[in-house]
Amino acid sequence: MKITDVKAVYPKYRHLAPSWRTHFWQIVVRVDTDAGVTGYGYGGGGVAGVAVVNGHLRDLIIGREIESVADIQATYDALYMESLPYGRKGLGIMALSGIDLALYDLLGKARDVPVCALLTDTPKRSIRAYATGEDAELYRELGYTANKFGHRWTGVDADYDTAARSAEHAREALGGDALVMVDVYMSWDGEVTLEMAKRLADYNLYWFEDVLTPDDLDGQAALIDAVKPTLIAGGEHEFTHHGFEQIARAGALDLWQPDITWCGGITEGLRIVEIANRVGAPVAPHRGGEVWGLHLIAGSDCADLAEYHADHIRDERDVLWLDEPAPVGGYISPSDAPGFGVTLNEAML
Ligand SMILES: [Mg+2]
Repeated sequence: MKITDVKAVYPKYRHLAPSWRTHFWQIVVRVDTDAGVTGYGYGGGGVAGVAVVNGHLRDLIIGREIESVADIQATYDALYMESLPYGRKGLGIMALSGIDLALYDLLGKARDVPVCALLTDTPKRSIRAYATGEDAELYRELGYTANKFGHRWTGVDADYDTAARSAEHAREALGGDALVMVDVYMSWDGEVTLEMAKRLADYNLYWFEDVLTPDDLDGQAALIDAVKPTLIAGGEHEFTHHGFEQIARAGALDLWQPDITWCGGITEGLRIVEIANRVGAPVAPHRGGEVWGLHLIAGSDCADLAEYHADHIRDERDVLWLDEPAPVGGYISPSDAPGFGVTLNEAML
């Protein structure tokens, strides 16, 4: 089938953003074909990402044939090269991710199979979900056996105590066998991380996430042995397999968390997983409970762990994708519907 049109749209989010993180400036990309099949993808970059797709990348792929995963990868590579001077990392790749995911959705729909079945003959049917949020008692009631809470270092010693209280709260609510993690969104530094490792040792945290900025690979590498057995996790702000190859070379992260709607779509997600498998790093994609990451987890050698934002990021006014799977009893399953198995809520456009 031949690509006949490509269009990116920035949704009409009604939830006014207190910060970028509310809806992450996510964009919708639609790809039409002469076979009458339409694919939808989810990318990043906001109105700038929309301009990259509609003003540049669109014209480069109209007329291309998409019949296989190899065709999608070749299309991605062509667009990567064309956008390289301004792309490579950040907005350009976030926008390109939306096209890549729309092409996978398209191919899945054309073959009448879910995206994960395009990637492997033996997709995982059920994936352990972890709840991101602070309501550990609720997560236990819902059947979760894994929880990640947030912490921000504000520069005062009392921050050690708030971290310890949160860790204790999650551990007590979920029990000794549960996975408990903390995401600090680049607010700790090396010294704070080392001290936290001592003060939180009793709570046996599975990972510390995003302790430093992604630019400080050596700094993160230096922490790995010192905080064992807790893992140093990160990667949501890194892009493409080229970026993750640098992480591998530096030995900077124990556990990798690429965001599939930002890092280069399923095409780059597969390449990142391949590198991770080579160096023995588990991959647990950022927002892996959303269908874009979920199908990669189900269809490749990722860790059996899907992040689900149980509360604050979901806003009932801004349901963009209908029919998204949700965890049941602490496990989440990609649907058998073709493509990514979700329907765009047109009212949001
Ligand atoms: Mg994070």
